[in-house]
Parts: sequence; C-alpha cells; structure tokens
Amino acid sequence: GLADRLQATMQKIRGKGKVSEADVKAMMREVRLALLEADVNFKVVKQFIQKVSERAVGQEVMKSLTPGQQVIKVVKEELTDLMGGEQSKIAVAQRPPTVIMMSGLQGAGKTTTTGKLANLLRKKYNRKPLLVAADIYRPAAIKQLETIGKQLNLPVFSMGDQVSPVEIAQKAIEKAKEEHYDYVLIDTAGRLHIDGELMQELQDIKEVARPDEIYLVVDAMTGQDAVNVAQAFNDQLEITGVVLTKLDGDTRGGAALSIRAVTEKPIKFVGMGEKMDALEAFHPERMASRILGMGDMLTLIEKAQVSVDEEKAKELEQKIRHASLDFDDFLEQLSQMRNMGPLDELLKMMPGANKIKGMNNLQIDEKQINRVEAIIHSMTPQEKQQPDIINAGRRRRIAKGSGTTIQEVNRLLKQFEEMKKMMKQMSGMQQKGKKKGFKL
Ligand code: GDP
Ligand code: MG
Repeated sequence: GLADRLQATMQKIRGKGKVSEADVKAMMREVRLALLEADVNFKVVKQFIQKVSERAVGQEVMKSLTPGQQVIKVVKEELTDLMGGEQSKIAVAQRPPTVIMMSGLQGAGKTTTTGKLANLLRKKYNRKPLLVAADIYRPAAIKQLETIGKQLNLPVFSMGDQVSPVEIAQKAIEKAKEEHYDYVLIDTAGRLHIDGELMQELQDIKEVARPDEIYLVVDAMTGQDAVNVAQAFNDQLEITGVVLTKLDGDTRGGAALSIRAVTEKPIKFVGMGEKMDALEAFHPERMASRILGMGDMLTLIEKAQVSVDEEKAKELEQKIRHASLDFDDFLEQLSQMRNMGPLDELLKMMPGANKIKGMNNLQIDEKQINRVEAIIHSMTPQEKQQPDIINAGRRRRIAKGSGTTIQEVNRLLKQFEEMKKMMKQMSGMQQKGKKKGFKL
C-alpha cells in the first residue's frame, strides 16, 4: 500500500522541522502512483496532486506525527473533501410520490439496488415504496424484480414486456398517487455499452416520470470504464447521484473519486453485497482510506486526531458542566452527527443512552435536522450564545428568516433546553460515547 511506499521517502526527512518542497515532491510521486493504481482517472490525479502539494509544503511538523504521516493526513483530508458533502440524503417530492429512476449499464446492479433502496426506505425511514419493473428487454428481468419484491414483501408494479417502459412508468406513478405510495422506484433496462437507443428510452421515461432523483448505478470493479459511463449518462440524462456497487469486491474504489470529480454529482450509496440489506450510505472518509490502501499508518494518524477530539470533548464537557452550552455548539454537534450517519443509531451506541428518559422517543430524521439548522442559522451570534434573550419578536423574525414557523422555533428552543439537561446527565459518559461513535 501507500504506507509502505512512503516509508523510504520518509526516512530521508525524518527529524526535519518543516516539510520542504523537494520532500513533498518525492512523496507526491508515491501518492500519484497509489492513486493511479487505485484506478483514479489521471486528470483527476494531476489536479489533486497539485492541490495537495500546495497545502503540504511548508507545513509545521506536528509533534505527534512524522512529516510523512502528516502529508498522508493532508492527502486523506483532501481526498475526503473531494468526495464529501451531503451524500446519503434522498430527495423528497413536495407532493408525493417521490420518483427515483435507476439508470446504468447491464449488470451494474440496478435491479438489486432498486430492491435494496426500497428496503432501506421502508426500514429506516418508514416509507412506502412501489417498485416498478420497466426493463422489458432482459429476459426474466421482470421476474427478477418480482422475486425481490416477494422476498422483501414489497409490491412490484409490472405490465409485462409488451408495454413500453414509458407507459409502465406513467401507469405506475398514477397508481402510486391513487394508493398513496411515498416513493416510486423505477428499475430500467441497461445495455452492455452506451448506445443511443438506450439513452433515448431513458430520456423518454424521464420526460414522462419527471423523477426527483436519477441515480446512475455503476459497478466499482469496472474502474476507468465507470468514469466514461458516468460522464455519458450525466451529459445525456443529468443524473442527480451515483450508487457505486460491488464495493465488497477487491477494488480500491478509485472510481468513486473520478466519478465524483468528473460528473460533480454526489455518490449517494454504496453496494456492499448481493443481499437486500447490503446498501450503505457513502462515507467519503472510508473511501479515502480505501483508495490510499492505508492500514497501520491510518491508525497512527487517527490516534493523533483522537487526542484533538478529546480536547474538544473536554471543552464541551466544561461547557455542559457550567451550563454554558450554546447554539454554536449545538450546530457543531449536529454537523458532526450528520457526518456519522443515522442519528438514531448513533444515539443507541452511546453507553447508557437507553436509560435516559425520553431517549427512546427522540424523533430524528434528516429533514428535521435541515430545518433545525436553518433556524439556528437565522439567529444572530448573540442569540446563539444567549438563547435566553430570544423573545417573541425575535422568534417571529427567526421563523421568517428560516422559512419555518414560530411553533418550530419554540419547539427547538424547548428541545435545546431539554438537551442541555440530558447532556448534563450524560456528561459522565461523554468521553466513551464520543470515541465509539465517531469512529463510524
Ligand atoms: P442490472 O442489470 O443493472 O439490473 O444488475 P443486477 O441488479 O441484475 O445485478 C447484477 C449482478 O450483480 C447480480 O448478480 C447481483 O446480485 C450483483 N450485485 C449487485 N450489487 C452488488 C453488490 O453490491 N455486491 C455484489 N457482490 N454483487 C452485487
Ligand atoms: Mg436489471
């Protein structure tokens, strides 16, 4: 892996107080090779190396890390950043149903992902999805989706293979409206290669179905090819996100980085197996580690980082103890939590959390968090630090500014007070819970 590669280079700069340009150059050669080996597109690599070099030169050497480790840290941070953002959110239509259209080449995993996504929507978000069999070409494609539906005990809409996919999509959406489904997931046909006919069909479906999301499903094992595919689909179909499948295989996952860089569309989910529960939210940081092929090196770097986190945790604990927790802290907590994935699961992992009154009926969903963030962002710095001053007039202004209601603002202020109380109870377990949760 990259770590071994860098060892030799690092020997040379051991003991230096600053990382020189020549040092960085030598290390960047190794990083470049590692990225190319992980199948990252060469143009992407070039841009990336340039950016990292700029950041890495002249850095002060941290006490706890060698210069080489520090460069890797920069590399990993930048990689994470490149793939970062709010990935795993699924669009919600203003008027249901939300329509999600799957697209991609044959064998990429569209049908499987359609099932996995429906499963996730129901299990995690308690939504009612309708699966739609719009691949009328591949033999047994309809049957495949129906089998998945049966297995998950979810309804599949099909009209056989004599009706056009456009009509199938249309009818399915009508049905979904009548029967109050939340989501319509359209499984479409693929081809072995990109061709005009396929693109035309997908465009036709798009026109009729007006999907809220168009996901491109790509096989991570196909490496560089996946990038070309992604570019073509994005150009002609304007995809909204990518699902990267078969990451349980022995790929480094460089395609993730390239696809993101080339299409500028987020990777929403990754497929980690053939089973229906093997769909995960995309974690940029994990992918960065995977691309770099880092083992021990990463552990070391993480240890160095943990100490920083610990300092932060201590600071937070102090604030809690003195009841001086404010909305800036709250906002930071929210964004940290969001980075870690589903909130309810995180909370469940905090030791002792289940013993705290009110913990079980904490309703947490992404949409809610967005609104909460909007409310906090509409507060003045002073209001964030001293919520007590938020009187009726201020509440009205905040509600207006954040596009929410006074009731919601009231609720947040109340919840904030409760959270303060709860955090006091938990402050004793904060340290442990934090370490465990943040490793996700
Ligand atoms: P489609 O042609 O795009 O609809 O692809 P399918 O959904 O039929 O999937 C093609 C094959 O890939 C099937 O054998 C799936 O079980 C398999 N597959 C799909 N996603 C994954 C994944 O994340 N991991 C693994 N190991 N196999 C997958
Ligand atoms: Mg299929």
